[in-house]
Formats: sequence, structure tokens, C-alpha cells
Amino acid sequence: MKPKEQLFLELRTKGFRLTPQRERVVDIFYNLPEGEHLSAEALYSILKRETTDISLATSYRSLKLLASMGVLREVDFSEDHKQYELVRDEETPHHHLICITCGLAKEFESDIILKEALGIANGFNFEMVDLQMKLYATCLPEKADCPKRLETAS
Ligand SMILES: [Zn+2]
Ligand SMILES: [Zn+2]
Repeated sequence: MKPKEQLFLELRTKGFRLTPQRERVVDIFYNLPEGEHLSAEALYSILKRETTDISLATSYRSLKLLASMGVLREVDFSEDHKQYELVRDEETPHHHLICITCGLAKEFESDIILKEALGIANGFNFEMVDLQMKLYATCLPEKADCPKRLETAS
């Protein structure tokens, strides 16, 4: 992942205006553990602890805007689980394994999937630009870090 300062510089060079609040949002994403994603609601609850000058609508808008700048990528895990992650410079694209019950998402890479996708695109005389596989499943709450695990255990 490129350093945050370099990202900010690139955005300014492209003419994007970053308010302190948008910079803070980018900051929050940089501080997330690798492989974590945030929804607008989750972002809002983090920002609310720091400032009163924030609404859920602002939180939505910041995410949309940062996605349109190419800083964040929207990942549609399910209808009501739209989440965001930083766009990374990665050699092998990453995919998502998604629990359809609780929305828990894990990232994985696969050389086989990459090779297969390149072959398919090639076969149609297309040039692959991006690849994102969504593998839908149900987690085993007692084993995976399902948000429902604690409820199940107690
Ligand atoms: Zn689950
Ligand atoms: Zn991801």
C-alpha cells in the first residue's frame, strides 16, 4: 500500500479537494487491520466519538466521494451490507468470502482463479482490467469470528 502522504499528494495534483474530515476518513481506513471493511454506519459510529459535527448522511457522502476518487472501493457483500475498503496496489487481486447470514467477509487470493480469469478474457479477445470473485457461504459461528459467535456461546 502506498504511503498516505503520497496518496494525498496525488489527489491534490489531480485537483481533488480533501477536507480535514475526508482526510480523517482516509486515516481511519489506513488504520484498519488488513482485510477489514467498513460500512457507512460503522464509520459514522467511529466519527461520532470524535466529533459532534457529523451525520450518517455525511458519512455516506464521504465514502461515495472517496470511492469516486478511486481511493476506496465499494464492496457489495449483500443488499444491506455495502462496505468499503482501500484500493491497494496489489499484484494478485483479492477476492471475498462472504457469509450470507451475518455478513462476515474474509479476503483471499488465488493464482488458479487469476490464471483461469486471464484465460477466459483472452479466449474472448478481451483484456482483463479487474477481477473480484465473491464466494457466498455461511460461516460456522462457533469457529469463524462471526459477530454472532458471542451470542451463540452465552
Ligand atoms: Zn456468519
Ligand atoms: Zn476486501
